[in-house]
Amino acid sequence: MGRLFQILFIFAALTCQYTGAEAKDFVLVIDAGHGGHDYGAVGDKTNEKSINLSVALKFGRLVKQHHKDVKVVYTRDGDYFKTLQQRAEIANKASGDLFVSIHTNSVDKRNKNRRKIKGTATYTLGLHRSAENLDVAKRENAVMMLEDDFTATYQGFDPNSTESYIIFELSQNKHMDQSIDFASKVQSEMVSTAGRHDNGVRQAGFWVLAKTGMPAVLVELDFICNPVSERFLGSEKGQTKFAKAIYNAFTSYKTAYDHSSGGRPVSGGDAPLFTDDDSDDEDDDMTDDIACNDGELRYRIQILASDVKLKSGSSQFKGLNNVDNYYDGGLYKYTVGDYTSMDEALRELKKVRSKHHEAFVITMRDGKRVK
Ligand SMILES: [Zn+2]
Repeated sequence: MGRLFQILFIFAALTCQYTGAEAKDFVLVIDAGHGGHDYGAVGDKTNEKSINLSVALKFGRLVKQHHKDVKVVYTRDGDYFKTLQQRAEIANKASGDLFVSIHTNSVDKRNKNRRKIKGTATYTLGLHRSAENLDVAKRENAVMMLEDDFTATYQGFDPNSTESYIIFELSQNKHMDQSIDFASKVQSEMVSTAGRHDNGVRQAGFWVLAKTGMPAVLVELDFICNPVSERFLGSEKGQTKFAKAIYNAFTSYKTAYDHSSGGRPVSGGDAPLFTDDDSDDEDDDMTDDIACNDGELRYRIQILASDVKLKSGSSQFKGLNNVDNYYDGGLYKYTVGDYTSMDEALRELKKVRSKHHEAFVITMRDGKRVK
C-alpha cells in the first residue's frame, strides 16, 4: 500500500509540474468603450463606439487564434450599453489577468488644434500630471452621468470635479508595474505596426481602471476630431492595424508572463508577430471604407417625464425656459438644450442638476431618442 501511494504521489507531482503553466488559463478582458446610446466621441463620418468595438473584436480574434491557453472575455461584443461599474464587475468576476480598455480620443470643439492633433496614448491608473490627461479621464468617466442614479452607484464621485480626482492619488495600484510594462509595449507597437504618432504612456484617474483588480490599461487609439486620423480609424485597414499592434504587445507581454511565472511558455513563444506592411498610411485614401452615420446625433438634457402634457412655463420646470418635449412610452418627456456633442451636454447638465437633481443626458436622432 505504502508503495502504491508513493507511486501515485510521484505521478501527481510530475503531472503538476508538467502542466504548471497550463493549470490556469490566462484571462484577457477586452473592453470596447461606450456602446448603444452612448456613442462616445463623434467625428465627421464615424463614431467612437463602432471603432472601439471593431478593434476590440479583431484583437480578440487574433488572440484566440494564436494563444490557445488564453481565455478572451469581452465586456461587450455588440452595440449595446454597459456601465463603467458593470465593465469592472465583468472583469473581476472573470478573474482577469489583464484588462485592456479601447477608446478613441477627441478634444473639445473650442480647441484650435482639434483638426491637427494626432497620435496614440496608453493610460494607466494614477494621478494626472497635466490638465490634458485630466481632461481625457473626465471625458471617459463622464459616461457614468448617463446613468440615472450615478451618484449612488459611484459613491459620490463627480467626474467633472477636479477635486474628485484626488482619490486616485491614494489608489496606488499594486499592479502598476505590469500595467506600465504592457502600456509601453502597446505604445511601441502603435508606432512600428500601426504607424501612429507616439503620445506616450500616461497616468490619469479612470474609474474603470481603478475598479479592476488586475493590471489594466486604457488605450486612446487616435483622435477622431482630426479628419486624417478619422479616415484611418474608420477604415477596415486602420482597424486591423490597431488590432495587430495591440495583439503584438499582448504576445510580448504574455511571453514574459509565462517566463516569470516559471512555466514553460504555452503561447507567445510561437505566436506570430505582425509587421507594418506599408508605412505611409497618413496619405492613404481610405474614404471608401468609412461607414457614414445616417442622421445627425444631437444631445439633450431630460429633466422630467409626465403622463399629462405640461404647459410652457409650468412650475414643474423650476424656471427653466425653452423646454422641449418628446412622446415616448406613453409619457411626455421634457428636455432642455440641444447640443452637437456629448461634452457640451454634460457641461450643461451640471448646472441643470442644481434644480433638477435627476436630470440626465439623452441622445437624439431625427427627433427620436436613440436607445
Ligand atoms: Zn471613450
